[in-house]
Amino acid sequence: MDINYTPEELAFRDEVRAFLDNKLPKEIASKVKNNQHLGKEDTIRWQKILNEKGWMALHWPKEHGGTGWSPIQKHIFEEECAEYGAPTVLPFGVNMVAPVIIKFGTEEQKKTYLPSILNSDVWWCQGYSEPGAGSDLAGLKTKAVREGDHYVVNGQKTWTTLGQHADWIFCLVRTDPNAKKQEGISFLLIDMETPGITVRPLITLDGEHEVNEVFFDDVKVPVENLVGEENKGWTCAKYLLTFERTGIAGVGQSKAALKHLKDVAGKVQQNGKPLIEDPLFRNRLADVEMELMALEMTNLRTVAAAQAGGVPGAESSFLKIMGTELRQEITDLFRRAAGPYAQPFLPETFEADYDGEMVGPDFTNSVSTKYFNMRKLSIFGGSNEIQKNIIAKMILGL
Ligand SMILES: Cc1cc2nc3c(=O)[nH]c(=O)nc-3n(C[C@H](O)[C@H](O)[C@H](O)COP(=O)(O)OP(=O)(O)OC[C@H]3O[C@@H](n4cnc5c(N)ncnc54)[C@H](O)[C@@H]3O)c2cc1C
Repeated sequence: MDINYTPEELAFRDEVRAFLDNKLPKEIASKVKNNQHLGKEDTIRWQKILNEKGWMALHWPKEHGGTGWSPIQKHIFEEECAEYGAPTVLPFGVNMVAPVIIKFGTEEQKKTYLPSILNSDVWWCQGYSEPGAGSDLAGLKTKAVREGDHYVVNGQKTWTTLGQHADWIFCLVRTDPNAKKQEGISFLLIDMETPGITVRPLITLDGEHEVNEVFFDDVKVPVENLVGEENKGWTCAKYLLTFERTGIAGVGQSKAALKHLKDVAGKVQQNGKPLIEDPLFRNRLADVEMELMALEMTNLRTVAAAQAGGVPGAESSFLKIMGTELRQEITDLFRRAAGPYAQPFLPETFEADYDGEMVGPDFTNSVSTKYFNMRKLSIFGGSNEIQKNIIAKMILGL
């Protein structure tokens, strides 16, 4: 395997860098880099800029407006975006529901939904998990009963990320309660404005409103909003999850965070010396750096295999575990670097227009919230324990 970039790939990287230099709004990048609140309007603004350039849909076929990039190009793009502090593209529309519509939807559905996803005119959220159905997703109970030209939906979804902003939700619902678990499920697109839908916030450990519960009370959904065949939604669900795991290693984010951490640790003083000279801290930092280099190589190997026509298999489970553990460890090291300044919780300092006093050095105000927020990484997208089960079965043959 050749893990050096070719001259064409290096030229592509220069093109990406030039685009980010010119088009990524500085105030948005500054919010990302300083862990300040990003508004819905910031995300949409950036996504519209990407769409103007034709760089919004990395994983779509070209005929629908995708980039047609190779896996290596996607990798380079994602890495550069992380380095420059570009906001993460919200996956729910472009990387989740859209590939399902492209693969299983009718021509009418493609015409109706894809353009507004590409241009970020419609904000989507994901209605998979329920209080009793997370790892065991096929145990979901939200039901949809067909009545003439519509379904009547009743039940509850949970952990719905950014559902408070969403215009539409894609849902897995049970359409045949008598079939085997996976067989009676359907994939429905639901307008959040439909009467009978209630969204309630769930406030997470970091004090943020990022996830929600969504309740459905006799919600009428037109039958034309069914994607694929009735009772065959599990096929769509599984197809979507392969996209959910795309870029799961988060190498670009970890590299950018590690660079920042080293910079900070070179400035913070402990016992009259920069923290980076403390042997215990240095040791942990070196461990992270080595693990990250190993992860990057493994990630590139997987990307190179995909480029050569292979399909990422159980190794994406490995990438997910390693990548998320590293990102969590880096947030822990930031807390260590902040010392006692990691304690105060001052949410007003997360706003870009805050001009009051800071309690400690600038980087310290958000280290604890980031640390708590990043606990989610090992839970969603298939928890790390579930990934270990996959590795045990598929790689170790246990
Ligand atoms: C911040 C956040 C955002 C999310 N966003 C969304 C979203 O937008 N849309 C959506 O649909 N869902 C979302 N989720 C839900 C997420 O997919 C689930 O939390 C996840 O699948 C785990 O399910 P659960 O929470 O029900 O935990 P459970 O499945 O109840 O698991 C509890 C614990 O048991 C372990 N466990 C379970 N089964 C096994 C097993 N067989 N072997 C070993 N260990 C096991 C798990 O690893 C976990 O540690 C989000 C979750 C979080 C935390």
